[in-house]
Amino acid sequence: MQMRSNDLFSRSRKVLPGGVSSPVRSFRPYPFFTSSAHGSRLFTEDGRELIDYCMAYGPLIFGHTPSFLLEFVKDQIFKGTVFGTPHLAELELAEEIIRAVPSMEMVRFVNSGGEAAMSAIRLSRAFTKRDVVVKFDGCYHGAVDSLLVNGVGIKKYPASDGIPTTLLDKTKVIPFNDFSELDGINEDVACVIVEPVMGNMGVIPPEKGFLQEVRRACDEAGAILIFDEVITGFRLSRGGAQRVFNIKPDITLLGKVIGGGFPVGVFGGKRELMEMVAPAGRVYNAGTFNGNPVTMSAGLAVLRKLEDHIYSDLEFKTEFLCKGIEEIFGDADIPIQINRIGSMFTIFFTQNAVKDAESARRSRVDRFQKFHSLMLERGVFLPPSQFECCFLSTAHVDKDIEETLQATLSAVNVDGW
Ligand SMILES: *Cc1c(COP(=O)(O)O)cnc(C)c1O
Repeated sequence: MQMRSNDLFSRSRKVLPGGVSSPVRSFRPYPFFTSSAHGSRLFTEDGRELIDYCMAYGPLIFGHTPSFLLEFVKDQIFKGTVFGTPHLAELELAEEIIRAVPSMEMVRFVNSGGEAAMSAIRLSRAFTKRDVVVKFDGCYHGAVDSLLVNGVGIKKYPASDGIPTTLLDKTKVIPFNDFSELDGINEDVACVIVEPVMGNMGVIPPEKGFLQEVRRACDEAGAILIFDEVITGFRLSRGGAQRVFNIKPDITLLGKVIGGGFPVGVFGGKRELMEMVAPAGRVYNAGTFNGNPVTMSAGLAVLRKLEDHIYSDLEFKTEFLCKGIEEIFGDADIPIQINRIGSMFTIFFTQNAVKDAESARRSRVDRFQKFHSLMLERGVFLPPSQFECCFLSTAHVDKDIEETLQATLSAVNVDGW
C-alpha cells in the first residue's frame, strides 16, 4: 500500500531534526501523520482510523475535540486570541484551580510544564537561599537544564549534551520509592521535585508512606517540596495526586489537562512563596503568551466539566481494560506487569514488580516495541515508548475497549514472542 506518512516523514526529516518536533514522536520505521482526531480516535494521512491511548501524552481527559470545548474556544477566538493585558478568563481559571487544589494559594500561568518546573526551581532557590535540587531517577519535569541529569529509557549521565557541569553539580538524583536514600535531603537542599505518581518511566505509583516521608524529610531540612502534577493534576482527581495521597506540597506544577488541549503550564503554592514572583517580588518570570486567553478559556471549560463521578467512571473502564489484557497475556504465558492508577496505565514486559526507574529499565523493551507495532497494525495506537503511560478519556467507550482486547488477543497469538 502507498503510505503517504512515509513520504511526509522523508520530507520532514529535511526540515525538522529527526523529522519530529519532540523526540518521543519518532518511531520505526516511520511515525504516521495525523490528519484529524475525534473522541478516542485518530485519523491518519494514510486513511487509517486508530484507537488512541497516547492521547497527546496526557492533556485530553475528554478525548479529542469534544464539542463543548470547541464552542467555548470559538467564542473566545472571536473576542481575541492574545491581549497583552489582564483578562477575565485567566482570573477565573486561577480561582477554579485554587478551589480544587488547596495547597495552591496563588498561581502563575506559563506556557509549558517545563517552564513551570524551571520557574519553581528558581523560586525555591530564592526562598531558601540555597542551590541544590534533589530529583528522583526516572522522573521527568520537562527539558530543563538542571533536571536533565539521568536519562529515562537508557540511564546515561547527563541526559543531554550542552548542560554546564556547574549546573549538573547542583542536582542530586535519588531513587524513587527508596526510603533509605531520603537522608540525602539535607540542609544544602533548596527543593525536592517529584512526580507523586511517576508517569515518565511508565506508571509507577508511590509505595505506602513514601510521599509522607519525602514531606517529612523536606520539613526537617527546610527544603521546598515541589509536586510535579503536570500529568496527575485534574487527572487522578480534581485535587490531583496530592488529594489522593493526602500530602500538601509547598509548590505544585500543573500543565496538560488544565490547558484543555492548548499549550500551558502553571506553578503555584503558598502565598508567602508566590508573593516573591515578579512583579510582586524579585523572582523573575514573564511570557508573551502567559495566561493566553484561548488557553485559559479552554482550560476553564474543561475544569468546570470535571465532576467527581468522571474519575470513578474512568477508573472502572481502565481497570476492566487492564484486567482483560492481563488475562490474555497470562493465557499465553508471556510475563507482563501492568501498573495502573486512575485512568493511567503501563504494560511492562517483565515478571518482576516495577517500583522504580531501575526495575522499569530491566523490562523487555524489545517485546514492548513488538507489541506496539502489532497493535498499530491492528488499529490501536499506544505511546511508542515503553516508558510512557497509556491514557483513557471519557470518550473511550465499551466498543473501543472490546476492539482493543480483540487486537491484543490477535497480537499475542502472533508467533515469535
Ligand atoms: C509532560 C510533563 C512535563 C513537561 O511539560 P511540557 O508542557 O511538555 O513542557 C513536566 N512534568 C511532567 C510530569 C510531565 O509529564
